Amino acid sequence: MQLRVYNTLTRKKEEFVSLKPQQAGIYSCGPTVYKYAHIGNLRAYVFMDELRRILEYNGYKVKSVMNITDVGHLVSDADDGEDKMERSAHETGKTPLEIAAFYTDQFMKDIDALNIKRPTVCPKATDNIPEMIAIVQALLDKGYAYETEDGIYFSVEKFPEYGKLSGINLSEQRHGARVEVNDFKRHPVDFALWKKAAPNHLQQWDSPWGRGFPGWHIECTAMSKKYLGETFDIHTGGVDHIPIHHENEIAQAECWLGHKAVNYWMHSEFMLIDGGKMSKSLGNTYTVTDVVQRGYRPVEFRYFCLNVHYRQKINFTWDGLAAAKTAYGKLCAQLLAHKASDVPSDPDVLASYKEKFVAAINDDLNVPLALGVLWNLVKLPKSRDVYNLALDFDKVFALDLDKIVPPKEDVPDDVQQLAQARFAARQAKNWAESDRLREEIARRGYEVRDKADGFELSKK
Ligand code: AMP
Ligand code: ZN
Repeated sequence: MQLRVYNTLTRKKEEFVSLKPQQAGIYSCGPTVYKYAHIGNLRAYVFMDELRRILEYNGYKVKSVMNITDVGHLVSDADDGEDKMERSAHETGKTPLEIAAFYTDQFMKDIDALNIKRPTVCPKATDNIPEMIAIVQALLDKGYAYETEDGIYFSVEKFPEYGKLSGINLSEQRHGARVEVNDFKRHPVDFALWKKAAPNHLQQWDSPWGRGFPGWHIECTAMSKKYLGETFDIHTGGVDHIPIHHENEIAQAECWLGHKAVNYWMHSEFMLIDGGKMSKSLGNTYTVTDVVQRGYRPVEFRYFCLNVHYRQKINFTWDGLAAAKTAYGKLCAQLLAHKASDVPSDPDVLASYKEKFVAAINDDLNVPLALGVLWNLVKLPKSRDVYNLALDFDKVFALDLDKIVPPKEDVPDDVQQLAQARFAARQAKNWAESDRLREEIARRGYEVRDKADGFELSKK
C-alpha cells in the first residue's frame, strides 16, 4: 500500500509522491532554545520521528532538517514583545549564546532519550544571517516588503493567496481584535522580516538597513531552502504554527521564489495536561527529567505518545502514563516469551500481520492502529518468528523491543522500579539522580550493575 499523508494545505489525505524517487526531504520547525523542552514540545518531535521512520520503512532515504531557533522568536508569534532569547539572557545574566548552547544540549539529550533519531542537519538561525538578509533584500526589491522605522515588514496584501493554509481572511483580520496593532505596519497581519535593534539589544548584526536581527519566520525559509532546495517534500510543525508562522513562511517563500516551496504540510496536534493547557502558573509544564524522576522510563513516555494519532489531541495525566507503563511492561513480557521459543510460525500468517501493519502506518501514520496489530501479533502461539517480526515493526515504533530483559523474579517490585528509574536517569544522562537511586537501592539491600542494554540486580 502506497503511503498517504494528510496535507494541511489541501485538507485531505494524499498519496505521497516524492520529488526524487525514493528520497524524501523533511523540514521541521525546531525548538526555541531559551528553556527546557516540555513533554508537549516533545510530542511534536516524536511525530517528526515517526514520519521519518515510516518513510524509511517504505524504503525512502530521508534527509531531515530541524532548525535551532536561537534568535528572533518574539514573545508573541505576531512579532510583538521581547525576543525570547533576549529575555532569558536578562533574567539569568547569561549571554544568549550560553543560553542557546545549554538548552540545545539539553534538547538533544531529551530527543536521544526518547529514541528520536537526530535530524540529518540541525542548523542554527544565528549561523544563517547572511542567507536571511539576502531573502529580505530580494523581497524588498520585488516590492513585497517595505521598510519602517523599526524594521522590514512583509506586506501580506501583496500576496493574494495569503491565508490559504489556515483559511484566515485578511479583511476580517484588519478589523479583528485578535491581531495586535503595531503602529508601523500597513496591515495588522504584516510580519517582520527584519527588526532594527536598539544599541543595547544583545543579538544584532549588520544589514543594509542598519544593525538588527531577523524575524522568526524568515529563518525557516532561509534554512529549508539552503538544506533542501527551492522545493522540498514535507514541512512539519505543531498546529499552533499553522495560522501565523507557516502562513508567513508560505507567503515569503512563494513571493521570493515565484513558485511553491513545500509539497506537503503536516502538523501534529497539541498535548493537553489533565485536560487543559500546560502553563507555568499551573506548574504543569513537565519535562523528560520530571518523567524520569517520577519513576518512568522515557521509552514509556514514547509508548504513551504512540497510542494517540498525531492529528488528535493527547491528554497527559500521570495515571495515563502509569497505564502506559503497565501496558508496555505486559507487551515486553509477552515478547520475551516469544523470544525464548524456538517454534516456527506460519509465514503466511506473519505476512498477513505485516500487511496490516503497513496498511496502518501508510494510512496517514496510523501508529495507534499499528500498535494494535502488534498487540494482536503477540497473542499468536509463542514463536521466535513473532519476536523477529515485532523487531521489524520496532523500526517504526522505536520502543527498544530489542533491548528487553527478563525481570528478576526474586527482586521486590519497589526495588525493580527504583532500578528502572535509575536506568532511565542514566539514559537521560542525569548522573546525580542515578547515583541517588543507586544509594536508595543499596539501602534496600540490593546492588545494581549496569549492562550494555540494561541492568542487573542482585542481593548484597
Ligand atoms: P517552540 O520551542 O515553542 O518553538 O515549540 C516547539 C514545538 O512544540 C513546535 O512545533 C510547537 O508547535 C510544539 N508545541 C508547543 N506546545 C505544544 C503542546 N502543548 N503540545 C504539542 N506540541 C506543542
Ligand atoms: Zn519554522
